Amino acid sequence: MKSQECPRCANQARLSKRTFSDQALAALIVWSDLTENLIDESICDDCYGELRDILIERIEDVKAVAPRKFNRAS
Ligand SMILES: [Zn+2]
Repeated sequence: MKSQECPRCANQARLSKRTFSDQALAALIVWSDLTENLIDESICDDCYGELRDILIERIEDVKAVAPRKFNRAS
C-alpha cells in the first residue's frame, strides 16, 4: 500500500478507513478534534490512535454530547 497525505494531520502515511460510532463522531466534532468533512475519509494510524485515546479518556463526556446521525458511505 502506498502512502498518501493524511487529510487530518497532513503527514505522509498509510491511510485507512476508521469506524467510529455516530455518538463518538458527534463528540469529536463538538470538540474540534475532527472536522465534519473528514467523517467519511481515510486517516492515518497516528490520528486514529489520538482520536481513540480522546474517546477513551472522555467517555463520560461522549455520553453527554447530543446524538447525531451522519450520512456515511458504508
Ligand atoms: Zn493523520
